[in-house]
Amino acid sequence: MTTYTCSTTDCDMTVTGLTCGHCGSELEHDVLQKDDGSTVGVSKCPKGCGKIKSPMCCGADMAIS
Ligand SMILES: [Zn+2]
Ligand SMILES: [Zn+2]
Repeated sequence: MTTYTCSTTDCDMTVTGLTCGHCGSELEHDVLQKDDGSTVGVSKCPKGCGKIKSPMCCGADMAIS
């Protein structure tokens, strides 16, 4: 199960096991590269229902632990 952890060292926030509300599958982490070269973390349904931006905490993308 995927656990997202806040990348700020003095914050203990975690999010575990995001699931797709449509099919119930656990969302998979993926990284998209944008046209300007920057990257953005996303969580996508492995069955293709769609994707959302990965969770954020303290103003930054949460890391996969
Ligand atoms: Zn789905
Ligand atoms: Zn945080």
